[in-house]
Amino acid sequence: MIAKFARPVALVSKYRRDDEPVLAAIPLRPGSDPAMLSRFGDDRWNLHPAIFRDNLPTTYRTLDFTIADPLQRLTAKEYLWARLNERRPGYQDRLAPSCAYTTLRTLRPFMTFVQAQTGAFILAAVDQDLLDAFLADQRRHSLRSAARIAQLVNAVIDLHRHAEVLTQGGLACEPWRGRPAVRIAGVVAGNTENRTPRIPDPVMAELLRWSFKYVDVFSPDILAARQELDVLIARSHELNVYGAGYQHGMIDVIVYERLERHLAARRAAGRGVPVWQHVGTSNTGTDERADAATPQSNYALMNLHVGCETRSIAQRPAMHGMLLAAVREIGTEVGGMDTPIAMDSDTGRPWRERFDSKSLAHEENMLQAACYVICAYLSGMRDSEVQAMKAGCHTVTRSADGLVERHRIASITYKSGGDRRRGEPAEWITIAPVARAIAMMERLSAAARARRHADGLWPVLKDKARTNTHLAKQAILLINAFRAHLDAAYGTPASPTIPYGPDDKPWHFTTRQFRRTVAWYIANRPFGTVAGKIQYKHASIAMFEGYAGASASGFRREVEQERALGRLDDIVEHYEDFRRGLKPTGPASARILREFEGVRRELDDFPGRVVDLGRVRAMLGHLACTLHVGFLNDCFFDPATALCLERDRAADRSAPILTHCSPDRCPNSCITRRHLAPWKASIAEADALLANPSLPPLQRAALIADNARKRRVIEPLDGGTP
Ligand code: SF4
Repeated sequence: MIAKFARPVALVSKYRRDDEPVLAAIPLRPGSDPAMLSRFGDDRWNLHPAIFRDNLPTTYRTLDFTIADPLQRLTAKEYLWARLNERRPGYQDRLAPSCAYTTLRTLRPFMTFVQAQTGAFILAAVDQDLLDAFLADQRRHSLRSAARIAQLVNAVIDLHRHAEVLTQGGLACEPWRGRPAVRIAGVVAGNTENRTPRIPDPVMAELLRWSFKYVDVFSPDILAARQELDVLIARSHELNVYGAGYQHGMIDVIVYERLERHLAARRAAGRGVPVWQHVGTSNTGTDERADAATPQSNYALMNLHVGCETRSIAQRPAMHGMLLAAVREIGTEVGGMDTPIAMDSDTGRPWRERFDSKSLAHEENMLQAACYVICAYLSGMRDSEVQAMKAGCHTVTRSADGLVERHRIASITYKSGGDRRRGEPAEWITIAPVARAIAMMERLSAAARARRHADGLWPVLKDKARTNTHLAKQAILLINAFRAHLDAAYGTPASPTIPYGPDDKPWHFTTRQFRRTVAWYIANRPFGTVAGKIQYKHASIAMFEGYAGASASGFRREVEQERALGRLDDIVEHYEDFRRGLKPTGPASARILREFEGVRRELDDFPGRVVDLGRVRAMLGHLACTLHVGFLNDCFFDPATALCLERDRAADRSAPILTHCSPDRCPNSCITRRHLAPWKASIAEADALLANPSLPPLQRAALIADNARKRRVIEPLDGGTP
């Protein structure tokens, strides 16, 4: 398995000096001091001066070479230095500093494996047998996809290609005899299907509905509570009993009087002693009046009113006794802050208990998550594009009479094929809810941005020194925390607020899912509604307007990919209905059923037999190409017989005009059970009009005739009329 020789290798680089700057050939951020750049000999390389993306996590800005084995350390440094600084024309561009962290991580499993197997990381001792063992070892990781294994294999191949810049040279053999990594790893050729799961409709609809509630209904309370707390904190500095040089005894007297006044004011207002809301803490105390376990007294809030620390209340018998007496007399109040809580129109009750400082910080995070969901989903922007937004990124174009015509977002795209290090400025056209979410984020993040001297729209809101400046990858945690919060606060285990996914577990959100999901809906269900408010059609028109011509962000291409996939899924669904005996109706149904019969015969697809789904999809592919899913019918488009094109012979004949469709007359029209609901709703609407005795006779006759026609159309599907 191992080559027979293992020559000693120098632990000093033959090619690099220790004092050579790491970012020597790379454009730097304005204001970077070249004298402060990391050197080859350093064990931690700070790449921040060459990373232009503000929202990249801190972890990705440093290369950590504190690897115990000196040979691994030297080889990794020489390889990364070459990747960052050298171009290989026709083969490889310089590595973007923002990708260097991932590149080092991808190399580490191979280095660790060789060390573990042979006792030393000596590339000249690595032969094909050892490489095959590495491949087999990676395949044993059941969670590793073929694509990930291809990346790990490619790291080995690329390391060997850099043999001339490595002090210890290359491997003992040409890895896998020069075969490409994707073939070695078994990545299926042509399998370009996006592997990011689409968020199921019920899950997305509820998440978006609650996101709207947070931005449109709950946010004024959250902002007002923050303002109240800021004022209280500022005033507490003025009230500070320890700063005026009082004796201990005097401090106790002042605290007693102020606490007494505070409790009296609460008593007069009919409010209890403040206690913490349970937010991620199991702290409890005892409600002296109810003799029951309660959350602990909110000393932090009382401290602000009194201008003292907890010890001056909790550890002084007189003060503590007064507090317990007040609890017995007036009871407790969750939260305790003054900001009133708005009514939730869905329940007719306040949407939450009053705030305390912890629950306020928590709700601010939830509001940030809601803003992110709206921006990411309804703009179609990638996570990197959303997170590159800055305060002031939203502008509007107005008509001559002052009406808003366009909402525009300015941000950066990193996928344009242009300068991927710095990104390219780009503009997106969007819809009003996104504009509202951006405006809300600007207000919500103002303090954090000022504190952190950052103008990005998505700072970490928490006021702690040891946190990232920008949300970056924490966005995923935040969105899932939002889902968990909604379930805990407004749902039950049996009936979660955000419906579970197909595996009957809470759906795990990732930032990528939003763009893919909205692309799919725009491509395949443009008539669908989101949370009863947003029409995808409306969103898609706005999104596409932002990508006029060649799309900077590639969204139009992704929508087309989703359209192709969606059509295939839809035609397979039609076929599955046919197999179950659920036949469609409409003029095209006979033609489609003939096609399905042919496929069934060809595949011998009869009850009791298991047929390869891939073959079914392949045989139905030609039908999928013509399928246009609609609200009242599906169109198997044939321009020669399309009634919607009759009106205008000069019209573009490459696609149907769905808005001119004649679902019950056109030979291309096919109606399924999926279309029943809108037909029935239309019939019911006409029936409601007919119930009006003052309806003019002509209109009555027309409605009766039209309803009869609709009932005839759906009768084969429904077996009766509504
Ligand atoms: S009239 Fe309707 S079914 Fe016929 S081609 Fe046009 S859109 Fe398709």
